[in-house]
Amino acid sequence: MPLCPVIMNIKKAIQQHIEMENFFSGGFIAKGKPVEMQQPQVKKPNPQAKAELEKIDEEVRLCRKCEIGSTRLNAVPGEGSPNARIFFIGEAPGADEDAQARPFVGRAGQLLDRIIAAMGLKREDVYIGNILKCRPPENRTPKAEEIINCLPFLQRQIEVIKPDIIVALGAYAAQTLLETTKAIGQMRGHIFDYYPGLGKPPIKLLATFHTAYLLRNYTYDARQKVWEDMKKVLEELNLPIP
Ligand code: URA
Repeated sequence: MPLCPVIMNIKKAIQQHIEMENFFSGGFIAKGKPVEMQQPQVKKPNPQAKAELEKIDEEVRLCRKCEIGSTRLNAVPGEGSPNARIFFIGEAPGADEDAQARPFVGRAGQLLDRIIAAMGLKREDVYIGNILKCRPPENRTPKAEEIINCLPFLQRQIEVIKPDIIVALGAYAAQTLLETTKAIGQMRGHIFDYYPGLGKPPIKLLATFHTAYLLRNYTYDARQKVWEDMKKVLEELNLPIP
């Protein structure tokens, strides 16, 4: 007798979970000897960075430039180390992020946490943010005017943190930051230069698949591609590959 859709969904979710465990933990960490947590802070810390980021956070919370500033439950400015070497950038908060005022805390966020752990890093070592700081209703894609209104916050965060590398998660982040309409499939796995402004040195930017896409396309091939991309990031930072 065919299984009912609910049971099939549960079975799929359990299988995905097991695969995810194997791929982003077992396959890379638990199999060998335990990986020492890396010491990623080789950058000279900027003592003002924390206060400057808090100021930006406050401005984000007060911002009502777009309609979504009024439909959101909470603004989600971003979080992480003010001296992070890696800045992960997604598209926009979803329902979980909107409820908790924190980026990447839903299922896509849990997968991002696994990826960060598989890299031998801790979530607190990196910075995580989004192109939009407010949740678009029903998780629709960002509108051009919302990106235009919101981007200056992200640009300022990048300027304060000065990461060694930006990881653009998905098409929206990569296309917005690189000012291109190229498909993510064409960009992923490549390291580009992101220009933070006139006279400022470029910052490396690696484009990869969004973790929400990975959850929807949970194939070995897609996960392998993301893992290859993360290894490139570690190589770029001269960090050991677990
Ligand atoms: N997807 C995103 O792009 N950002 C989040 O914060 C969560 C999910």
